Amino acid sequence: MSNQYNKPLPNPQRWSQDFWKGTQDHKFLLKKCKECGNIDHPPYLYCTECMSMEHIWVEASGKGKIYTYSTTYLGAPPAFTKDQPFTLAMIDLAEGPRMLSKIVGAKAEEITIGADVEAVFEDVTTDTTLVMFRLV
Ligand SMILES: [Zn+2]
Repeated sequence: MSNQYNKPLPNPQRWSQDFWKGTQDHKFLLKKCKECGNIDHPPYLYCTECMSMEHIWVEASGKGKIYTYSTTYLGAPPAFTKDQPFTLAMIDLAEGPRMLSKIVGAKAEEITIGADVEAVFEDVTTDTTLVMFRLV
């Protein structure tokens, strides 16, 4: 953990603050609609299925599968240049939502569509923890 993290940081909104507080405790929380049961991620102000603003937070299993991915070898924005190559993936979470995240701890050639992944937490500053994924 460092306070010299030089990459963009999330800007939590009142409807996503609980998600970001959860990540600090290394909990991956998903917003579940109390009306229809839909789970949204990222968390929105209201349910994307029925527009309800009533929700509960449920802890995700952290399990998912890679739907698709892209590896950046060159041309990343300056803050990410030294991370090249890195892979961003669309991940189908076990709970339903599809999310974008970074795959860590694997070489690009090891990553495949359909691979099982699990969430890991990266404490990037003293008050920001990001959710990333690794192959299982
Ligand atoms: Zn709903």
